[in-house]
Amino acid sequence: MRAMSLPMIIVHGGAGNWKDERIPVGMEYVEKAARAGFGVFEKEGSALDAAEACTVFMESCGQLNAGLGARANLDGVRELDAMIVDGETLSFGSVAAVCDIQNPVSLARYIMEKTDYAFFAGNNANRIYQQMISEGYREEREPGVIKPHFEVFGADTVGCVAVDSKGNIAATSSTGGISKKLPGRVGDSPVMGAGAFANEICGATATGWGENIMRVTLTRMAVLYVEQGIDLQKAAEKAMDLFETKTGSEAGLVMADKDGRWSKATNAKAMPTSVIAEDLGNISSYTK
Ligand code: ASP
Repeated sequence: MRAMSLPMIIVHGGAGNWKDERIPVGMEYVEKAARAGFGVFEKEGSALDAAEACTVFMESCGQLNAGLGARANLDGVRELDAMIVDGETLSFGSVAAVCDIQNPVSLARYIMEKTDYAFFAGNNANRIYQQMISEGYREEREPGVIKPHFEVFGADTVGCVAVDSKGNIAATSSTGGISKKLPGRVGDSPVMGAGAFANEICGATATGWGENIMRVTLTRMAVLYVEQGIDLQKAAEKAMDLFETKTGSEAGLVMADKDGRWSKATNAKAMPTSVIAEDLGNISSYTK
């Protein structure tokens, strides 16, 4: 889609068979999330700051399949997966199957920035969470609930790609997973190159049937196509074509590059998406 000025953020609220009456709700919350993330740029925040704030908003709103609003597994427990990717350094932090934490994206960022590791799973991830709190990396509003790092106002898997004024790219994904998942099941959302990917050129985040997204490393493929010179919208569509041909399954992805161009492709019924970019001093918003 058209080049937009920087900074910018593109946000999705999950691709799937949304009930008609839920689509406006999904759109409302992705628009709010995009504004929450974009507001961070106005406070000199980086792409990582904006992506984290936007995702914390979606995890906390209770209306999307992440954080507070996450689907429960078959035991009735919310087991969350999340990831954040820093395109500038090609670093990522991930958590899988974590319970009792509302904002796993902040824990993922702590893991990326403050530990020697990239990926924690299950109960022991909660120990890293406690370490994060006791070190003061983030404050809690209540046990398990992060106080946003930047003040933010204010279904399905959520994710965003944020590009700051320097052209640095950050991508996130956060989810409660698919419906009726067996306890311990982990999908694509915390897997680098599957649920999200970013480098210094482009970032992407995906949603849909996680087992199949991992099979084709959907977001890595989409960004690779851009590296090969394919236009951003065509790259998203080509990645979705590959996904559909190989797996016959349902998914969607959004992308943004270092110049603020963005794209979206999905074969699902709906995927609420919002884009905000600084354009000649004005903020423009796009949702479909
Ligand atoms: N991709 C997520 C998963 O498989 C689900 C979703 O996008 O709704 O866990």
